[in-house]
Amino acid sequence: MAKINDNYLKLKAGYLFPEIGRRVRAFAEANPTARVIRLGIGDVTRPLPPAILKAFHDAVDDLANAETFAGYGPEQGYDWLINTIIDKSYKPLGVSLKTDEMFISDGSKCDCANILDIFALDNVVAIGDPVYPVYNDTNVMIGRTGEADDKGYYKNIVYMPCNEANGFIPALPAQKVDIIYLCFPNNPTGTVAGKAELKKWVDYANANDAVIFFDAAYEAFITDPAIPHSIYEIEGAKKCAIEFRSFSKTAGFTGVRCGLVVVPEEVMGTTSTGEKYSFNKLWLRRTTTKFNGASYPVQRAAAAVYSDEGWQQTREIIDYYMENARIIREGLAEAGLTVYGGVNAPYIWLKTPGGMTSWEFFDKLLNEANVVGTPGSGFGPSGEGFFRLSAFGNRENVIEAVERIKKNLK
Ligand SMILES: *Cc1c(COP(=O)(O)O)cnc(C)c1O
Repeated sequence: MAKINDNYLKLKAGYLFPEIGRRVRAFAEANPTARVIRLGIGDVTRPLPPAILKAFHDAVDDLANAETFAGYGPEQGYDWLINTIIDKSYKPLGVSLKTDEMFISDGSKCDCANILDIFALDNVVAIGDPVYPVYNDTNVMIGRTGEADDKGYYKNIVYMPCNEANGFIPALPAQKVDIIYLCFPNNPTGTVAGKAELKKWVDYANANDAVIFFDAAYEAFITDPAIPHSIYEIEGAKKCAIEFRSFSKTAGFTGVRCGLVVVPEEVMGTTSTGEKYSFNKLWLRRTTTKFNGASYPVQRAAAAVYSDEGWQQTREIIDYYMENARIIREGLAEAGLTVYGGVNAPYIWLKTPGGMTSWEFFDKLLNEANVVGTPGSGFGPSGEGFFRLSAFGNRENVIEAVERIKKNLK
């Protein structure tokens, strides 16, 4: 009989969102007239803006004519999209990138997972806690870890606790690591890192020949002009950092699917015999072998995000979500809660009142205010005692949810 990849058996069952779903369904069955408001899952709710939708439609029409038909494109994405992103989104930051340093994909989750293909298994990996679960679980699946302990920490992964004491920004690992995952603005904590903070990580990586995986999925939500949008705004980062971006939250592409990864030519690793080798070359080889590109209409739609009209309409939606974030953040603070995030990120990370566990607070909000959020403990042991609310809902629901929470906590 064929043998399975046993590493998958080390994974804790996908617990968080199924368990939330189970509890919400049970509540709704017992309380059929209650109107439950969901501020839990990190999915967007606004439709695609008209300029982007038009480009999408036009590109579909291109497929109807032999003269404009598009078949297989370059696996790593069309130059016209890559160069548009470099010009419109990186150049204004003072970051220059070459066309062949950027790879277009069908989303950031896949990129964060697939990048592990080009790194040896005996690299030591450091991951935040709490964290976007994909970073952790893909390392388990590929076989880099041992079993999980009682807390949920896997053997061979270096966890970097993010808590109130360190402002949810991890300390540099005490031991030497080879790969570091950073996500700013952060999901789930909504924390951002300034230039000095990121410089500390870049310097560490360069001093230790480590590589930083920088997840910038939420960079478009930064409102403070002093906060960097890209790790390449930091001197030395092009030698040590791979950056991930996504159109999902920025432009409502969670269902459309488009992302990108930047692998600068200067980021080097070593072969088993000790020679230097470029990760860019490996990633190109991997991409051209295992991927056939994001779809043509999707890439046309993505390029339209950066047209004058497209960007203005995209910004309006981001502003809408960030106004939701303000309403949640200020409303909950008025209700006496300690809240973090929600200024440069669409997530509000709140401290549960009265020392409740994350799940106790989840049940209280669901049963008494009929509001659904996400228990912080589901993102890692250090998330215990915290709770995530998302700003991606529609305005009326956000306002009502905040009013209900305020009343409930009085
Ligand atoms: C939503 C999200 C992404 C983007 O995922 P896609 O696959 O591009 O939809 C990446 N990283 C984090 C932390 C996210 O929350």
